[in-house]
Amino acid sequence: METLDEYTAACPACDRNRYLIESDRNFTRARRCEQCFDVCPVCEGQSYTYERDERGYEIARQCPVCGALNRRIEAFNDASIPRRHSDANLENFETSRQNPDGSTGEPIGNLNRVRFQLYNWVKGFSPGEQGFLLHGKVGTGKTHLLAGTIRHLTLEKGISARFVEFTHLLSEIRQQFDQGRGEASILAPLIEHPVLAIDELGKGRNTEWQLSIIDEIISKRYNRSLTTLFTTNYPLEQEGLPTGDASTGNFQRAASATTLRQRVGERVYSRLFDMTEFIAIEAPDYRRRTE
Ligand SMILES: [Zn+2]
Ligand SMILES: [Zn+2]
Repeated sequence: METLDEYTAACPACDRNRYLIESDRNFTRARRCEQCFDVCPVCEGQSYTYERDERGYEIARQCPVCGALNRRIEAFNDASIPRRHSDANLENFETSRQNPDGSTGEPIGNLNRVRFQLYNWVKGFSPGEQGFLLHGKVGTGKTHLLAGTIRHLTLEKGISARFVEFTHLLSEIRQQFDQGRGEASILAPLIEHPVLAIDELGKGRNTEWQLSIIDEIISKRYNRSLTTLFTTNYPLEQEGLPTGDASTGNFQRAASATTLRQRVGERVYSRLFDMTEFIAIEAPDYRRRTE
């Protein structure tokens, strides 16, 4: 069968990826590398080839040369990875310190093990499987790992996925509510997406309204067995402290809560526990050393 590589030579611009990564104002984008693969010679840029079946009907088939590449690029662009994470992938995630002479130094915490775990997860993943929740201190690279996972899912595997920042998500939903759009039409895309990645779960003001939105999204995704991924800067729970419970209306306490369990409430927390594997990131704030 014809393949992409048969039509294209080694390319210094894209390193044979056949796509290039760039950013617009807010988001990371991929586009086909026009230096090595401008217009597909097989489908002439249609993405589909047409043939007749035995009864003479014309049927469209995904172009064997460029169809999969186009689908992967489209999935990546739909994922809405923020511009500042445009370089993040699982391969370039630093798991060791660098010595002054540039050689690899000591490993940083358990970063190498976590990266390896996520790499295996993403390689073997098919939609519907259990997700994960990365928890650990600020500056340990959780968002890089999450963005890198979404990049691999979309750009390497062609799986539809969506990346959202928690506080951004809430303010966007608020805005749409204020414009008079119905709750169902606002939340549907988030509830139905095959893979949803929520960065910095629990961040923000944590109002009653916000808690009800996150409850709605997570419960519906849970009921549909859809894969959801999370990061959070909050410790999961603390022994001996009362848990702030959103369902009892005790929001004063929930707003000042310092654990994830308190911030999202008992119900959501137990859903998270069922739908994800909790993965602890143990590392000092390694971003600080480059500041
Ligand atoms: Zn190229
Ligand atoms: Zn084609």
